[in-house]
Amino acid sequence: MPELDAVLMQRMQVQEVQGLMRQIVATARDRFPVVERDNKRLISFSCNDYFGLSQDVRVQQAAVNAIEQYGVGAGASRLITGNHPLYVALESQIARMKHTEAACVFGSGYLANSGVIAALMNKRDLILADKFAHACMIDGAQLSDATFKRFAHNDLAHLERLLKAHRSEFEHCLIVTETVFSMDGDVAPIADIMALAKHYDAWVMSDDAHGLGIVESAATDIQMGTLSKAAGVYGGYICGSRQMIDYMISFARSLTYTTALPPALLASALEAMKIIESEPSHGQIALTHAQQFTTLLGLPPAQSAIVPLVIGDASTAVKASQSLAEAGFLVSAIRPPSVPAGTARLRFTFSAKHEAEHIKQLVECIKRHGWNTSFDPQRLDAAC
Ligand SMILES: *Cc1c(COP(=O)(O)O)cnc(C)c1O
Repeated sequence: MPELDAVLMQRMQVQEVQGLMRQIVATARDRFPVVERDNKRLISFSCNDYFGLSQDVRVQQAAVNAIEQYGVGAGASRLITGNHPLYVALESQIARMKHTEAACVFGSGYLANSGVIAALMNKRDLILADKFAHACMIDGAQLSDATFKRFAHNDLAHLERLLKAHRSEFEHCLIVTETVFSMDGDVAPIADIMALAKHYDAWVMSDDAHGLGIVESAATDIQMGTLSKAAGVYGGYICGSRQMIDYMISFARSLTYTTALPPALLASALEAMKIIESEPSHGQIALTHAQQFTTLLGLPPAQSAIVPLVIGDASTAVKASQSLAEAGFLVSAIRPPSVPAGTARLRFTFSAKHEAEHIKQLVECIKRHGWNTSFDPQRLDAAC
């Protein structure tokens, strides 16, 4: 066997024993929330397409029109070819919705977070991140050379202890968190974090990937979001002051050294954002569906469209996910390192497109297996 393959095989055996192997399974999303896998139709509770906009005819048509007018690829980086007018329109739409001076669209949420943090902070600086902050914020922190520390999840007292102990050793300090946590579905106390930041002369960056259109949060210095979840398309964005955006255009390497998004994606993202702005009921419906689920299971009320059921062991979570698939539901098992060791879970995302009957059947299936009774929110706290 070639040397490369032998080494990789050995590494993967360790993962396999721990139930941590990852695979990509062919799954057609034909008519969301219905998806098709292994010739079987499943109701998906795993898509972040909270309003079903990825298959909204208006959003689809916007892409078709743009392809017919402009073709497919963008040609080069925005800084080389020049800015497509659709970027200007999309960025002003986002800035208007977020009540900020300006916005900047990146290739993806991952590129926005990693590029912006790396561009902003350097080795004389301190980054304080919520323990559950998304991997792409952590990657940005590592790229930046700044000193990086984590505070316990949503724990303001711990955050303040870190600020008190370390703020004065550094030139600048950035606090990073999520508005709605992607694997837990709970929300961050953004206004309180802003108050602390003000007191200790720190900046705050919030990741609103799962909040857009569903949960409103207080403004921060740098508000990041994605166009690939509720908006149903692709791409990421940041918004804030004109000065901050101008700086990022000059210094964020993940903006400069990558090709611009295809015009069709910009056109459909623009249409999707207009729909989110003008039809706020979608977000309310997605949230209500999540709350129906938690009520039926006797869990604490959902704070967002995401609800986890913590199973604990990774292999058990995978088996639970397989049983749900046999019963007709697509629910992913989330395992370490996406979540802390010992907190593997089923993660349910609720959409405006689900029907009450889907949720009822899902709950009955969960109760039959008794997974609801194994749920222990304390375990989440213990894990950090
Ligand atoms: C999905 C996600 C991202 C990345 O966004 P993409 O547009 O998919 O690259 C960033 N942060 C959080 C919290 C996410 O859930």
